Amino acid sequence: MAEQYYDFIIIGGGAAGLTAAQYGARANLSTAVLESASKGGQSLLINDLENYPGVFPAVSGYELIEVMVKQAKSFGAEFLTLTVKSIEKKDSLFEITTNKGVITAKAVLLATGAKHRHLGIEGETELAGKGVSYCASCDGPFFRNKRICVIGGGDAACDEATFLSNLTDKVYLIHRRDKFRAQAAVAERVMKNPKIEIMFNKTPVKINGTNKVESIVLKDVNTGEEIVHETDAVFIFTGMIPQTALADLAEKDEAGYVVTDENMETSVKGLFCAGDVRSKPFRQIITAAADGAYAAHAAEKYIRGE
Ligand code: NAP
Repeated sequence: MAEQYYDFIIIGGGAAGLTAAQYGARANLSTAVLESASKGGQSLLINDLENYPGVFPAVSGYELIEVMVKQAKSFGAEFLTLTVKSIEKKDSLFEITTNKGVITAKAVLLATGAKHRHLGIEGETELAGKGVSYCASCDGPFFRNKRICVIGGGDAACDEATFLSNLTDKVYLIHRRDKFRAQAAVAERVMKNPKIEIMFNKTPVKINGTNKVESIVLKDVNTGEEIVHETDAVFIFTGMIPQTALADLAEKDEAGYVVTDENMETSVKGLFCAGDVRSKPFRQIITAAADGAYAAHAAEKYIRGE
């Protein structure tokens, strides 16, 4: 590939990147989305996306992404399949080194997402989407009045257990220690909730089920005793891993997410960040899309020197 130039390069083709591509191309910036594999990111894991405003009845995450790609292309955005190795800023241009050559750009958007930390136990991958979930607002409503387990002891586990307790009579919150990692106020809300039963000192060792979750095997960390706990769903909130391998230049928060201002600009002028890799309190497709729109709008102003 000969050296290529674009006004606006977007790394990552999930909801944030695709929205930015649409806005960037529509603003007449030469815009390209770089992806190493398939487009879509975490959205592809969603079977029924029923909380995206204006999309009703529910579609799959795959269907939404397919339309977003078409929409971005209709405005002139390009899609390049390659692996980005590094980003450097040289004077006022960014130099993006890929496995297929170097691309230069005036502005760059990092939209590389985050991955859920998995438990790595038997049954977790096999039953993902069949009762094993990493998103309460996406999948919780499918388990209305069913037996629900939540794994983890951080803010996310406590917040999501509270959310899920509005959908069913009993939520079991399973944590491997006897003390929550979550902020005191968040943990206290859980402890006062009569619909949440806390199981401390238990670590999950296996999820059982054929085609759907039937039970989870829990090991007591003190005695080593294992129990089989029947459940219809296992929601796992054991932390996220932001995909920041390309974000060396930018400032991060304590948890490793990229810090931006309200225009999605990082600590480096012209380097923007949007979606789940960004430091923020609420990670959803709609918040990723909103980030992407803000980032493209700000990138346009930056590129035009406004
Ligand atoms: P987190 O704070 O890293 O908590 C992860 C939890 O999962 C910890 O309790 C950890 O146990 C447990 N865990 C990790 N690996 C495990 C394993 N293999 N088996 C069993 N348990 C395991 O992650 P988070 O709750 O997703 O929060 C991430 C960040 O987002 C935090 O900075 C948090 O404050 C923020 N956040 C804030 C809010 C809010 O303000 N309302 C809501 C959501 C997230 P240990 O405690 O034993 O390590």
